[in-house]
Amino acid sequence: MEIRLYNTLSRVTEAFKPLKEREVGMYHCGPTVYDTPHIGNYRTFVMNDLLRRVFEYNTFKVTQVMNITDVDDKTIRRSKEQGKSLTELTHQYENEFLAGLDSLHIHKPHKLLRATESIELMIALISSLLEKEIAYKADDGVYIHIDKVKEYGKLANLDLSKSSHERITNDEYDKENPRDFAVWKFHTSNDGDISWKAPFGDGRPGWHIECSAMAMNALGPTIDIHTGGQDLIFPHHTNEIAQSESVTGKQYVRYWMHGAFIDMNDEKMAKSKGNVLKLEDLVEESISPLAYRYWLLTAHYRSPINFTFEAVLAAQTALIRLIATVREYHEGGSVNVEYQGKFQAAINNDLDLPKAVALVWEILKDKKVADSDKRATILDFDKVFGLDLGALPSTADEVEEIPVEVQALADAREEARKEKDWAKADALRNEIKERGFEVIDSEDGVRVRSQ
Ligand code: AMP
Ligand code: ZN
Repeated sequence: MEIRLYNTLSRVTEAFKPLKEREVGMYHCGPTVYDTPHIGNYRTFVMNDLLRRVFEYNTFKVTQVMNITDVDDKTIRRSKEQGKSLTELTHQYENEFLAGLDSLHIHKPHKLLRATESIELMIALISSLLEKEIAYKADDGVYIHIDKVKEYGKLANLDLSKSSHERITNDEYDKENPRDFAVWKFHTSNDGDISWKAPFGDGRPGWHIECSAMAMNALGPTIDIHTGGQDLIFPHHTNEIAQSESVTGKQYVRYWMHGAFIDMNDEKMAKSKGNVLKLEDLVEESISPLAYRYWLLTAHYRSPINFTFEAVLAAQTALIRLIATVREYHEGGSVNVEYQGKFQAAINNDLDLPKAVALVWEILKDKKVADSDKRATILDFDKVFGLDLGALPSTADEVEEIPVEVQALADAREEARKEKDWAKADALRNEIKERGFEVIDSEDGVRVRSQ
């Protein structure tokens, strides 16, 4: 069955045609590891994970590549503020990011590339750009002459009449004012010991060149799919296209996909706005990361969503009910092909997960389908959902691992107990119970086990 994807470049939903039969290569812009990711960031990473799972469900061989931005203006600034080395700071936040992926059941990409380990590739790309005179040297760095780039701004539909020949050193700037941008920044005293030798002058890469170099090295000059949050369309992805296509003369990316934001009180959730929530903030409110994942599945990835605790708590209630229901059904059924067909049609239609989730509730109510077949069908869908709906075994002796969301609830209960919030602790104990587990308080500490 065909997979259709909305392509930001063409502005329509297109049938996906891979470069290589039954294979797909995808590149995702990863986190800038200067702080703990917020739940808005994770929405984009969940979208990437769903994309991978949809292709796997369609039996494609997937190669998923993601970068870790571990050197840029923000990471350098933060490492100075915290009096840590750049590596110490970035490794700490990289580890936090990886733990977050785990708790949200986001598969780790096949390749996770740190920018600082690919500097040679960036230098080679910049040398080519200088040779072709698309890039030029200025006092403080190497810049791209956007007037010399073919079709500059096509991804973002930029109005180039407003472009200026001023240069911009900062990696992030507004759409209203396209300018020559930095691919390399010469060393300044602000950078401390962060500097790499380069034939055009020692310094460090700009953010945009990092992704161009790593993506093409990992996946070739033309890539099937490249994704990110919608704020990356300009300048980041626009500039990636400019750098890459100017060097290779080939189309850089065939399908560009961008996820919509999470808003808080109808404003983008962003560190700069100070309205961010972290996964741990959810756990503190007794919301497990998987309930958050479930909530994300109920909205299309291109629709902006407004975060409220009520909405996510309602999603959590639905998820708990779903797990409890599936748990009661016997194993040994078979997948209902009619529902499976509808499911595949939904997910292949530009990742229509809300429809796919609705099918779960539809099959649960369908009296014509045997319970064990319902179970088998829902667990088949769960290959894409990634909610571990069948993780709870039917008998207690099989329990070895405590699901992460149950552990998260137990941790939150511990916190509540420390704060002597007994009502909250009791509510959490009940939630754990509903999932088929109990909390044992003993002299050796607190333990969770199946009931
Ligand atoms: P950063 O770590 O800031 O480079 O961001 C990592 C990813 O999160 C990028 O793809 C951003 O587009 C995305 N992102 C940032 N804020 C939000 C938000 N509020 N909702 C959804 N995605 C976001
Ligand atoms: Zn990127």
